[in-house]
Amino acid sequence: MLVREKAEPILALLRARGGRVTTSRRAILETLLGVAGHVTAEALTARVQAVQPDVHESTVYRFLDELERLGVVDHVHLGHGPAVYHLAADAHHHLVCDGCGAVEEVPDEVFADLRGRLQAEFGFALQPRHFAVTGHCRACAMRP
Ligand SMILES: [Zn+2]
Ligand SMILES: [Zn+2]
Ligand SMILES: [Zn+2]
Repeated sequence: MLVREKAEPILALLRARGGRVTTSRRAILETLLGVAGHVTAEALTARVQAVQPDVHESTVYRFLDELERLGVVDHVHLGHGPAVYHLAADAHHHLVCDGCGAVEEVPDEVFADLRGRLQAEFGFALQPRHFAVTGHCRACAMRP
C-alpha cells in the first residue's frame, strides 16, 4: 500500500529522534499522507476517528506539532479559520482569493524578485510559507 510505504521512512525518522510510534500515530500519519492537499487538524481527526474512534483530537494536535518539528509537515494560515497542514516536502506557497476563497498553490520562485529586494533594501528575510498571500483570483478580478 502506497500510503503505508510513504509512512515508513517518516516513522523511522521519528523513532531515530526518540519519538514514540503507536497505532494511533501510525493511523494519523497514514491518514494525513492519504489526504491530497490541505487539511485542518479537526478534519484530520474526523478522518482518523472514522477508522480509529479512540484517537483524541489532542493526540492529533500533539503529533502534528511533533511532525512539524521534524520538518515533515508545515501548517499555513489560509485565512481567518484554523490553520491547515500539508507535507513540507511538497514546498509551495498559497494565493487565497478574498472573493471566492479559491486557493492556488505557487512555486517558491514566484517570490524571488520580492525576496531579493526585501533582503537588499530592508535586510528582511521573506518567509511566505506561514501565511497565504491574499488578493483576488482571475475570475473574481474580472467580475464587475
Ligand atoms: Zn501558525
Ligand atoms: Zn499547501
Ligand atoms: Zn475568486
